[in-house]
Amino acid sequence: MTQPLHFDSIATHAGRSGLAEHGVHVPPIDLSTTNPVPDLDASGLSYETMAGGGRPVPGGGNVYARLWNPTVARFEEGLAALEGTDEAVAFSSGMAAMTAVILAAKSESGGRHVVAVRPLYGGTDHLLGSPLLDVETTYCTPEEVGSAVRPDTCLVVVETPGNPTLELVDIAAITAAAGSVPVVVDNTFATPVLQNPARLGAALVLHSATKFIGGHGDAIAGVVAASTPWAEALRRVRAITGSLLHPLAGYLLHRGLATLPLRVRAGQAGADKLAGWASEHPAIAEVFYPGLPECDPAGLVGRQMRGPGAMFALRLSGGYDAAAHLVSSVRLFEHAVSLGGVTSLISHPASLTHRPVPADARPAADIVRVSIGLEDVEDLRADLAQALA
Ligand SMILES: *Cc1c(COP(=O)(O)O)cnc(C)c1O
Repeated sequence: MTQPLHFDSIATHAGRSGLAEHGVHVPPIDLSTTNPVPDLDASGLSYETMAGGGRPVPGGGNVYARLWNPTVARFEEGLAALEGTDEAVAFSSGMAAMTAVILAAKSESGGRHVVAVRPLYGGTDHLLGSPLLDVETTYCTPEEVGSAVRPDTCLVVVETPGNPTLELVDIAAITAAAGSVPVVVDNTFATPVLQNPARLGAALVLHSATKFIGGHGDAIAGVVAASTPWAEALRRVRAITGSLLHPLAGYLLHRGLATLPLRVRAGQAGADKLAGWASEHPAIAEVFYPGLPECDPAGLVGRQMRGPGAMFALRLSGGYDAAAHLVSSVRLFEHAVSLGGVTSLISHPASLTHRPVPADARPAADIVRVSIGLEDVEDLRADLAQALA
């Protein structure tokens, strides 16, 4: 191939090298927990290298599946190609991935201070506020990152679009303000289809792959795209703590990459129409959608993001009661947490996903969050209309 491939071609082909030599069309699923030791010395070296975060040594084999799995490695290669990073490291969940990022950042820098820009996914907020990982977290606005960073800051945590109200954060401005402190961007809502934070200076790009990347609501997973030194630090954490992804899930996620661009763009087209419709609806006080000019004052859609995405949130004029009524009255939408699947979901963040967040930072009780799937948009509109009636 003489010219670099376009995004959709990478999505369908990355991580699939060498299949023809195996005589197969799709990646094999390797379920082995252990592997025959081909040579004691070479395998010993391979073990030591992988436990330290490296790759298997030629002739030494993969040794043990907590250290390396070829099916998962193919998914990682595909995701890294889409994010434009050297490598990616997959985990058993998005929260396992965030835990590994924090542990790796702490051990790389020796500091234990984290700067976090709210709003964040409730689980991330919960993790940063808990004593489990022994971090001290300063929460701040995007503008305050530069002054919040200290000599012992090991990590800056940002999510854009933010969960659940889709606030956009200027990633390049954050990475500039953070200076030499690594920035992790939670890219779950945007996906690599719409945004590549590593190109804007983020050291670590995190996904809850449970959402758009898997895309079918049948695999819990996380993945972090990063440079090789960071990937090694993350694999070291994964090997030591055992937060690895099961190869069946790795296979499903890799398969999901092929349709990711189509799914994200189709959900986005539906979200764009429905958000516009909702902003005219008398029962709705406010629509949060990056595609609406008032939600993107800095003009980041088109610059930082290639599109506004498939997620939006609504503030109900009738407060909590109206929000609770809406989520329990839908018929085609499913009332469930999570997002990014082929079917549309609606949820009430304050009651569920953001429940662990301290009350002063929790999303308001009159807000519902919507994830648009692949149904016909007219059916979704009719469902919202009847549920709002
Ligand atoms: C769901 C989610 C997570 C956590 O991922 P899990 O796979 O559920 O552990 C992290 N960040 C965002 C933005 C999410 O939506």
